[in-house]
Amino acid sequence: MRVLLLGGTGEARRLAEVLAGEHDVVSSLAGRTGEARLPVGEVRQGGFGGVAGLTAWLDEQGIEAVVDATHPFAATMTAHAVAATSALGLPLLVLRRAGWQEQPGDRWHWVADAVEAAGLLPGLGERVFLTTGRQGLGDFAGTGLWTLARCVDPPEPVPTWCELLLDRGPYELGAELELLRARRIDVLVTKNSGGEMTAAKLTAARELGIPVVLIERPPLPAGVATVETAAEVQAWLAR
Ligand code: NAP
Repeated sequence: MRVLLLGGTGEARRLAEVLAGEHDVVSSLAGRTGEARLPVGEVRQGGFGGVAGLTAWLDEQGIEAVVDATHPFAATMTAHAVAATSALGLPLLVLRRAGWQEQPGDRWHWVADAVEAAGLLPGLGERVFLTTGRQGLGDFAGTGLWTLARCVDPPEPVPTWCELLLDRGPYELGAELELLRARRIDVLVTKNSGGEMTAAKLTAARELGIPVVLIERPPLPAGVATVETAAEVQAWLAR
């Protein structure tokens, strides 16, 4: 079966390996991250040009099924995949890793978006560790708090109101503890991305008693079939 795998995550890269040899898979990346780790097999990069562009591309390529393994916060791509597959009558499955779960000792504050997170910060701490990525960084520019922002790629334009730390996971607990202590962080902000690669910051915050502001995931469009594992995607494609 010719399958489009919408990627940009570790899960999508691992899924491309699992499906290689079973299906004719083309992985798609947005093409924005420098030094992106490419999945095995056929890869295309760059946006499709909205719903119309994606619909035309799926048709031209003879795609028979779409698996959306994009990041839980890549809501536009997912909405476009839903619209294009429903226009063509193609099956769509979303592979989405589980969100993080609060544990004893956590001091978590849930918010709907970055603007709400920024509004909450002044009551929680004075030295902020911002791990929400370069998109939407500007929402935090007005807090008046000292901020360290960790991003994979440099934001454009480079912000002058915060310190930047360019780094790419996976992150380990020891290094996260050291970073939080060395920079005297007293509040952490993150999206509820889930997954192991970036979870150590939450354990470090728990150990140090630091409050965490978590941005909720955007909701999935109604009625979209969703699974959490590569094995479930394999079984779905086999059906
Ligand atoms: P988004 O807001 O949902 O999508 C914006 C536009 O980027 C889409 O309309 C599409 O352009 C293009 N696009 C996104 N994912 C694509 C893909 N896999 N292949 C081809 N085009 C894609 O996406 P985003 O949040 O900017 O994320 C971009 C990529 O980074 C995604 O692949 C995602 O998995 C990955 N990522 C995102 C985050 C995050 O926090 N958002 C974190 C880690 C990785 P057209 O309309 O032109 O088709």
